[in-house]
Amino acid sequence: MSKLQLYDVIIVGGSYAGLSAAMTLGRAKRYVLVIDDNNPCNRQTPHSHNLITHDGEPPAEIRRKALEQVMRYDTVSFYDGTAIAVNNRQTYFETHTSQGDVFSSKKIIFTTGVTDIMPSIKGFAECWGISVLHCPYCHGYEVKDTPLAVIANEKMAYEYSRLIHHWSKDLKLFTNGKSTLAEEQTAALRSHGIEIIEDEITELQHKGGELKQLIVKSGKAYPLTAVFAKAPFTQHCTIPQQLGCELNEQGLIRVDDFQHTNVHGIFAAGDNSTLFRSVGVVIAAGIKAGAMANHQLIEEEFR
Ligand SMILES: Cc1cc2nc3c(=O)[nH]c(=O)nc-3n(C[C@H](O)[C@H](O)[C@H](O)COP(=O)(O)OP(=O)(O)OC[C@H]3O[C@@H](n4cnc5c(N)ncnc54)[C@H](O)[C@@H]3O)c2cc1C
Repeated sequence: MSKLQLYDVIIVGGSYAGLSAAMTLGRAKRYVLVIDDNNPCNRQTPHSHNLITHDGEPPAEIRRKALEQVMRYDTVSFYDGTAIAVNNRQTYFETHTSQGDVFSSKKIIFTTGVTDIMPSIKGFAECWGISVLHCPYCHGYEVKDTPLAVIANEKMAYEYSRLIHHWSKDLKLFTNGKSTLAEEQTAALRSHGIEIIEDEITELQHKGGELKQLIVKSGKAYPLTAVFAKAPFTQHCTIPQQLGCELNEQGLIRVDDFQHTNVHGIFAAGDNSTLFRSVGVVIAAGIKAGAMANHQLIEEEFR
């Protein structure tokens, strides 16, 4: 396909949300270019769970199959690279890549995900997605009824501990500094046998990402199978913000129920616009974004 071609839709981000949008648009006979540099947030996790038909498969294998199926649609093209800038020319968008290519499209969908920011605790990043887990629906079953910990403080600590306690009664809460829990929350957690440890965490000792023990500043070691922790995140790609797309108070791209951003012609789907991070959820959002981009094109074409 020529670089001068005006695509119907360019999709920036070709992981689960992006490929789902691409399939929807390919099946709607739309000329689509998917631009992706293959850096999904779950790349370190050995097995992805809680997606029927793919339960327990390596994440890269799910993406490989998705890409293979999407590329069967001859109106869909794939570009292996990074989008670095997009100009909104009002009637079309011009997307520039780090390799110096420029592509044009009538609509654009951002399915660019988020970047999790690893804390400076030694071993945390190496265990991320293996034995430092963020979501019990994705990974709780595999570690159920084993010695677990939650690393959290402030607002989230109570709710998160209560949630993880459902998967294992052998649970500790590490606040990694002075606890900010309310007295009644502390009492409620203790009444369920959850020990609250305020010592600073110095290290997660592990073997190949499999947690062995958590070490605190006093030197005390706590043998654990896994810890649950949420990492702060930022948008993986800031082009939507540069184009005037609003973020909400959680740092997610603000979209309506149909994945429209506040800028006409620009859609967003997947982790970049939902807190409900799960492959199944973002696949559904990708379908909506694809269908709604097609819908907007039809509104403009059928007059
Ligand atoms: C450690 C971990 C484990 C998880 N385990 C599970 C699980 O077991 N089950 C489950 O259902 N969910 C799991 N999740 C959640 C799931 O991985 C995400 O919800 C899902 O990957 C989000 O898909 P996405 O397409 O929105 O973004 P991502 O999968 O993060 O993909 C974004 C893509 O956009 C690309 N991109 C970004 N910017 C650009 C750019 N400028 N140019 C080109 N390409 C760009 C990236 O390289 C990447 O390929 C896990 C998440 C994490 C972090």
